[in-house]
Amino acid sequence: MTEPTPVNMDKLVSLCQRRGFVFPSSEIYGGLSGCWDFGPLGVEMYRNVKEAWWRRIVRDRDDAVGLDSSILMNPKVWEASGHVTSFSDPLVECKVCHLRWKADDLKENRCPSCGGELTEERMFNTMFKTFVGPVEDATSVVYLRPETAQGMFVDFENILSTTRKRLPFGIAQQGKAFRNEITTGNFIFRSREFEIMEFEYFVKPGTDDKWFEYWVEERLNWYLKLGIRKEHLRLSPHPKEKLSHYSKATTDIQFLFPHGWGELEGIANRQAFDLTQHAKASGKVLEYFDDETKEHYVPFVIEPSVGAGRCFLALMCDAYREEPDKDETRVVLGLHPVIAPIKVAILPLSKKENLTALARKVYADVRPHFMTQYDETQSIGRRYRRQDEIGTPFCVTVDFDSLNDNMVTIRERDKMSQIRVPIATLAKTLTAKLAGEDMLVLPEGGRVVVAK
Ligand code: ATP
Repeated sequence: MTEPTPVNMDKLVSLCQRRGFVFPSSEIYGGLSGCWDFGPLGVEMYRNVKEAWWRRIVRDRDDAVGLDSSILMNPKVWEASGHVTSFSDPLVECKVCHLRWKADDLKENRCPSCGGELTEERMFNTMFKTFVGPVEDATSVVYLRPETAQGMFVDFENILSTTRKRLPFGIAQQGKAFRNEITTGNFIFRSREFEIMEFEYFVKPGTDDKWFEYWVEERLNWYLKLGIRKEHLRLSPHPKEKLSHYSKATTDIQFLFPHGWGELEGIANRQAFDLTQHAKASGKVLEYFDDETKEHYVPFVIEPSVGAGRCFLALMCDAYREEPDKDETRVVLGLHPVIAPIKVAILPLSKKENLTALARKVYADVRPHFMTQYDETQSIGRRYRRQDEIGTPFCVTVDFDSLNDNMVTIRERDKMSQIRVPIATLAKTLTAKLAGEDMLVLPEGGRVVVAK
């Protein structure tokens, strides 16, 4: 097994900015801490991440449905869920420079910035508040959701009755979440506005341990299938004394980020906590009727939850590599083709009119099938490097021979191997090549390490 090696964050941030993956939000005004924009390539990759998750969790399964609930909800939701009283982090403030810190993150009882003395901890609720309607008073306060899960719990009855699903079944949702984090940082790892991808899998009590194990394994495999190196992943089960009040078991999937091992995804056995709380607070019955046993019960729920941006960052970090190439260094994003923002680049060897005309025709043929880019600027070597750096799996070169033999060269990103194929079958060949990289098989290798 190769030693785990985290990528250098500065290099990654620079690539993201230079190539239009991620920019600081409202940068011309100095930015806004914890907020980021996904640029032209970033948004394509971000959509691919979300699409890969949605496909795996919802479309490829018979026991899952999707939901898109509103961001603003009745504030009673957040009272019942416990967020109003306990969605808080312990905050300390430096008595000298007045910077604020999340107490959990500090190794010593001193300000990491100036070494000053810190105040006592106080709890700080990290939900953002705003107002509905024209009057800004206590009765019109609403919250920007800090997670999407509660939308799925409060819609449980609507979904059950409209889909007639039997247990076990799950509800999936992706969407914006907002947390007024005390400290942000490590690029997009911890943001104040981010997208979260959550799945609530409802099961019969008593079968929950089995399903918890299933989802830990299934989610871990998803990352491996997306090509993340297994030495960059590990499982971190929470010790009993550190579990949230609602959780019977929680395991984090950690990734080796540039700043060290950090939570990528959390999988929790939330038992019947949420449905029970909402039933109590709303006065509605939130139960399941089991036709076979004729029992009514409140299902338990297993929840895998991951930030889309954090997943994006992990994929980027894992894919980034530098290789010696002649006298230069080749920077490659070895992204899985499902995730790569551009799948195919069409590159005429020169800007000669007859060549670009054919290349544009090839571009028009391929484009309906995959996200394709056409590029005729600079030398061919430089264009290959540009595509390597953004993770494009295949470059198609149209050269002078193509004018006579109607064939083009496909150059593959990782091995830089080249094959020549007829233009007539190019789209078919590329489809087969990209499908061969589909997410059906796990890469070779055993299980991922469990953190001590
Ligand atoms: P942490 O301990 O890092 O604050 P958490 O345990 O509060 O995270 P959860 O509430 O379990 O996080 O959130 C589920 C997932 O959402 C996390 O695994 C992470 O991928 C993502 N996430 C949480 N907070 C943020 C954030 N501020 N920015 C980006 N992603 C986040």
